[in-house]
Amino acid sequence: MKRVADHLSDILSAVRPLNPLDLQLLDAHGCVLAEDVVAPWPLPMFDNSAMDGYAVRAEDVAGATEDEPVELPVVGDIAAGDAELQAIGEGMCARIMTGAPLPAGADAVVPVEYTDGGVARVQLRRTAKVGDYVRRLGEHVRTGDVVLRSGTFLGAAQVGLLAAVGKERVRVRPRPRVVVFSTGSELVDPGLRLDRGQITDSNSYTLTAAAREAGAVPYRVGIVPDDGQRLVALIEDQLVRADLVITSGGVSAGAYDVVKQALSELGTVRFDRVAMQPGMPQGFGTVGDEGTPIFTLPGNPVSAFVSFEVFVRPAIRRMLGVSKLHRPSVKAILQTALRSPEGKRQFARARLQPAPDGSYLVTPLDGQASHLIGDLAYANALVVVPEHVTDIEAGQVVDVVLLERRKG
Ligand code: AMP
Ligand code: MG
Repeated sequence: MKRVADHLSDILSAVRPLNPLDLQLLDAHGCVLAEDVVAPWPLPMFDNSAMDGYAVRAEDVAGATEDEPVELPVVGDIAAGDAELQAIGEGMCARIMTGAPLPAGADAVVPVEYTDGGVARVQLRRTAKVGDYVRRLGEHVRTGDVVLRSGTFLGAAQVGLLAAVGKERVRVRPRPRVVVFSTGSELVDPGLRLDRGQITDSNSYTLTAAAREAGAVPYRVGIVPDDGQRLVALIEDQLVRADLVITSGGVSAGAYDVVKQALSELGTVRFDRVAMQPGMPQGFGTVGDEGTPIFTLPGNPVSAFVSFEVFVRPAIRRMLGVSKLHRPSVKAILQTALRSPEGKRQFARARLQPAPDGSYLVTPLDGQASHLIGDLAYANALVVVPEHVTDIEAGQVVDVVLLERRKG
């Protein structure tokens, strides 16, 4: 049997980050930047007010207090977006809104809450220092500054910054397009009537959602019956929009395990027994002219999910070009004893809880059989039991992979 670590390293050496391309800003959300982005102008672009208030010359409000306010004439009203260049002279002020350009002659802003809010004349009840409540031209970003480096993951805030420096299109590594099939003549789509012996296809939903959570753009093709020819033809049809293909089912040693038969004939997909529980039968290779990576995962819902976590997710992350391929893991104190088969790496579904002292407690779920999708939905972590370990008593420290969704 092949070791988990060997199978994973074979996979990771076969997949590469996708080639960069220029995308519209919002299409680039969730992608990794493939260029350094330089500011073509400073931020802020001009001196402007940080508050709604009055633009003043600091020296004109010297000595202003609650009891003895300074009163000044209001010579203008400046809103954000006002283009007219306004100026104030000595002993004057202008009403100004947040983000509006500071008029020439003014060097500070007195927030409206420290005034009587006057329109023609205003009482100012606080002093101001030069620069108070003024956002200076270029104080945040100077022209020519690199605002985001190549390799940065573009979340909401990064997309916003790119817009702020006027980027309409940006060079990124695209999100991999992942095509998902389920195989099995017993499968029916949710919402349809089930005949005796039929079950609903859950894997293609799990795997499509998991691919999206991993950062990919998934396409759920859905169910293919146990017919090898049909599967191969469908995969070929889908290759135009696939950077990666995932199938589930049909890879064990049963009579109708047609995925294995059909893809073995292509000669580019290898089928291995990987020393893990759940998820032993694994297939990985490439299909089509462009050598599109394909994963053939086992059909049991928990096996399919765990296989995705262990093998497919890191591959998608590598294609995305992010540096963190793996989910965070922590050490935790096992709450109930755990048995694990000799020679296999076990991924036990579990609930992880933080303890008040900052450590973690982890409780494996009762049912560890690979068809128990109900338990899987309740798990928030996987306890990883190394190959040579067979018995772990309660109270021992174990490695736990966190399943909760993280950004980037
Ligand atoms: P297989 O690997 O095709 O022999 O499938 C193993 C087990 O997983 C069988 O009980 C299948 O019915 C079940 N199974 C396979 N594919 C799916 C699927 N897409 N959704 C839910 N169960 C599945
Ligand atoms: Mg099957």
